[in-house]
Amino acid sequence: MTKVPFLDLKSINAQYRAELVEACARVIDSGWYISGGELEQFEQDFATYCGSKCCIGVANGLDALVLVLRAWLELGKLSPGDEVIVPANTYIASILAISANGLTPILVEPDEKSYNLCPLKVEQAITGRTRAILPVHLYGQISDMPAILAIADAHGLLVLEDCAQAHGASIDGRKAGNWGHASGFSFYPGKNLGALGDAGAITTNDDELADTLKALRNYGSHEKYKNLFKGMNSRLDEMQAAMLGVKLKHLDRETQQRRSIAALYDQSIVNSNITLPYGAVAGAIENEAHVYHLYVIRTQKRDALQKHLHECGVQSLIHYPIPPHKQQAYSELSGERYPLTEAIHREVLSLPMSPVLNETDVNRVIAACNSFRP
Ligand SMILES: *Cc1c(COP(=O)(O)O)cnc(C)c1O
Repeated sequence: MTKVPFLDLKSINAQYRAELVEACARVIDSGWYISGGELEQFEQDFATYCGSKCCIGVANGLDALVLVLRAWLELGKLSPGDEVIVPANTYIASILAISANGLTPILVEPDEKSYNLCPLKVEQAITGRTRAILPVHLYGQISDMPAILAIADAHGLLVLEDCAQAHGASIDGRKAGNWGHASGFSFYPGKNLGALGDAGAITTNDDELADTLKALRNYGSHEKYKNLFKGMNSRLDEMQAAMLGVKLKHLDRETQQRRSIAALYDQSIVNSNITLPYGAVAGAIENEAHVYHLYVIRTQKRDALQKHLHECGVQSLIHYPIPPHKQQAYSELSGERYPLTEAIHREVLSLPMSPVLNETDVNRVIAACNSFRP
């Protein structure tokens, strides 16, 4: 019997093959491959999609976060050593962006139900050196942004959203990427809006920040051979911008397909050993707040469940097996204790989720979960 794949990227992109090939040919024939019309068009389209004033394409999602913090350092809004609050249970890139800039990551335990930043714990973590909050919309669910913005306003803090997993998630019609002072997106191929290579973007409503970022992604230069900053080379190339332009048109339909699959899992997986994902943040319309980048269940019998799913032909993955503070790269944090984060990392398991998962496969995943007897 064929396997139920976790994420079938080949089939996802095959749906748009003709459009992608056409866009690809257009770029080849243009003779212009970096910083041209394809990028400008995609930046406009993605800014419009998010409801933001500005979009700045960059090379990947990590660079998007690194560059925003770097720009705030250049603009004097941050200083080296300043504290940035970040969830302890995030993908490590969110934290790498903070330490790459000589800032201090302050890890905070998440909300147990949403796995996103808990406003109460954020407030408790604020000190005299806190200058920014970096909420991560983990697994595709937007964080409790109204509460986080209220705290940021009260304490004069900057907010940088990590939207790498949450393209299109919204609260009251306001999308991820349009809540904080700036946001970083990843278009890594496996993300909900995925390029055919590496790509990323920043959204913001702040023109001065946008201008600074446009220089920083291009050696620190606004104008050829004049350098205002010691910048980077982090550009979103014409080919990837063209691929993303094609795929953006289909994003909302794909998100609806993800939500339909999640609804089937929600309704039909019944097993006392398995905890299903909690819906949305309080006050949000549940359906809009989550774009199901991942469908993450929790179980104290994770190894046994993963083995059982594997025997049933269902591929599952763990996001993520080791918390950042237990990584060798962050040995300076290894003494810190985050019991909830550690439990989450021990117990989470991601079920197959993609816009091309068919009903037969969804039913096989459900049956495999329901037949699990540890
Ligand atoms: C994927 C991801 C990133 C990094 O994006 P890249 O494009 O791979 O650099 C950052 N944060 C989170 C939460 C992610 O999932």
